[in-house]
Amino acid sequence: MTAKIIDGKQVAQDIRAEIKIRIEQLKAREITPGLGVILVGDDPASRSYVTAKEEACREIGIFSDDNRLPASTSQKDIVALVNRMNNDSRIHGILVQLPLPKHLNESEALRSVIPEKDVDGFHPVNVGKMVIGEKCFLPCTPHGVVQLLARSGVKISGSHVVVVGRSNIVGKPVANMLLQKKENANATVTICHTGTKDIGYFTRQADIVIVAAGRPKTLTAGMVKDGVVVIDVGVNRIEDKTKKSGFRLVGDVDFESVKEKASLITPVPGGVGPMTITMLLYNTLESACNFASR
Ligand code: NAP
Repeated sequence: MTAKIIDGKQVAQDIRAEIKIRIEQLKAREITPGLGVILVGDDPASRSYVTAKEEACREIGIFSDDNRLPASTSQKDIVALVNRMNNDSRIHGILVQLPLPKHLNESEALRSVIPEKDVDGFHPVNVGKMVIGEKCFLPCTPHGVVQLLARSGVKISGSHVVVVGRSNIVGKPVANMLLQKKENANATVTICHTGTKDIGYFTRQADIVIVAAGRPKTLTAGMVKDGVVVIDVGVNRIEDKTKKSGFRLVGDVDFESVKEKASLITPVPGGVGPMTITMLLYNTLESACNFASR
């Protein structure tokens, strides 16, 4: 069997088209969704993520309040800026780009965003609501993974999902979202990590494997059963002298071998990646709707 490729770019485009229609409807009521963005320092990867987020906002019609601050910015100044945005009625979502420079306290910065504007879904109030199955802002990458599965027609309910990775931004939330007794969920979920003795023992039993380990070839063909659905969250740079940049991006899955056994698989790039910003736009729109209905 050679897997069908899940086209993340296409799914992201479809969702963005839906978001755009809803934004136009809001604008007809003189409400423009707004996203406040805070980038501290000059980490090149963070800078390019923030630029991509700002461009996506512009394209779809979301107002973005961009704040690029020097690496020397104090904790007090960041919290003051977040507070200004917390109280700014033009801004419905606030994003503090991580990682922050080492002298800053990330969790304090994230907690200073009021949960009602926490469109990244990282505030403990939103994390707690997600775990107990209440309506909240879902973190963007895991929500994108669930949307990829659902919109590819994958039956999640009753499936055995194995998640490889237990980070707070991907592994734990995606596992939590998929085990809820809800639509696009209701799976039996196993989580593997570096303390798991034999990851293949678990992944070979999985109907769906989600890999978010940050290591190339974490999942190989011998670790999956025929017909498995594979979602590769990983983004790793590996040296490639044939490229002008000197590197290429690969995921955490040994794509070439696993695709021969899987029924569906995401590529890297072009799988989960395009979904993350899309779900941020979605959360910002949802927040604007929430504020409008207050
Ligand atoms: P992270 O914070 O480094 O967490 C990695 C997790 O994987 C940890 O729980 C770690 O286990 C586990 N792990 C690492 N190596 C493993 C192995 N060999 N076997 C089993 N488990 C292993 O990473 P993250 O933030 O979750 O990100 C994961 C990957 O997704 C990265 O490549 C990142 O770049 C990518 N990512 C992509 C997007 C996107 O938009 N496409 C968004 C976020 C992240 P321990 O807990 O035991 O250390």
